[in-house]
Amino acid sequence: MKSLQEFPRIPLAVLPTPIQKLENISRLLGTNVWIKRDDLTGIGLGGNKVRKLEFLLADAKRQGAEIVFTTGGAQSNHAMLTAACAKKLGMTPILILKKRGVTERKGNQLLEYLMDTDVRFMDTDSYDDIYAEMDRVGQASGKKYYKIPCGGSNAIGALGYVNCMKEIADTGMHFDYVCCAEGSGGTHAGVALGAKLFMPKTQVVGLMVDSDPFEIITTRIMQETAKLLELDFVPTESDVHLVNMCGPGYAIPSPEGNAAIRMMAANEGLFLDPVYTGKAFAGLIKLAREGKFKSDDNVLYLYSGGAGGLFAIDVDLG
Ligand SMILES: *Cc1c(COP(=O)(O)O)cnc(C)c1O
Repeated sequence: MKSLQEFPRIPLAVLPTPIQKLENISRLLGTNVWIKRDDLTGIGLGGNKVRKLEFLLADAKRQGAEIVFTTGGAQSNHAMLTAACAKKLGMTPILILKKRGVTERKGNQLLEYLMDTDVRFMDTDSYDDIYAEMDRVGQASGKKYYKIPCGGSNAIGALGYVNCMKEIADTGMHFDYVCCAEGSGGTHAGVALGAKLFMPKTQVVGLMVDSDPFEIITTRIMQETAKLLELDFVPTESDVHLVNMCGPGYAIPSPEGNAAIRMMAANEGLFLDPVYTGKAFAGLIKLAREGKFKSDDNVLYLYSGGAGGLFAIDVDLG
């Protein structure tokens, strides 16, 4: 196995992020619920994408890129954090976003405006159209450019979450379960692979907030990451455990997600968001109520950020 140290990485996040026990919610759910504060990664409004960008932007720098492209929906946290991190490193971010979701100057659109970011919209549902547009714009610029896929979810990005699992293992704490939101697959892939390497007794659960075929997507990213790390095993679909919490659709609030947001806010003073972390935490609540966790289990919820999205919803949270 290659060591994580062998991969170029630019420190962007404040690490390690804290692990805290949610005392009130533990009492309510009858198990020990802990939270990994990846909302506190220390740039933008924090969030999981910063860990991926440490590796992705290091790769971009190594290749001499001046322009960094990425994509997502109008309120993509990943796109906002890519802009923040690229600007901090002196690169020029260009966001080519799907014209889907709240495009007004609210939430992450406001933050991108404040960072003076080049944001363009394409009225398409196909990321292939957008990646082709990146090549067109990049080539026309005459500069070296680097394309980061939607969510930063490829093998290089997933290294950020392999690294996160090492960080958790290094605390010496034991967790029976680690639960994380799944929107494009890179986080879950890194967490699941990291668990196999550093916390083999821990079961990882991906809580889907979109309804893409994540058994296939997550397995593929895990396999590509395993190859990058030169591991002597090939992850399979049996390494991927999913619960579908998407509800009415990606980025459309669900009643369960809204209830989870209120439960967390009222009991712990933390604010989840309607697109990712609320729906994902609703999955943890559902599993607890179904009796999946024993009273002495330790369940770690990966709080992946997303604050920007809470201020850009065009429906009320019921
Ligand atoms: C992107 C995102 C996720 C999901 O991570 P993926 O690696 O895309 O699956 C979870 N929570 C928040 C707040 C995000 O922005």
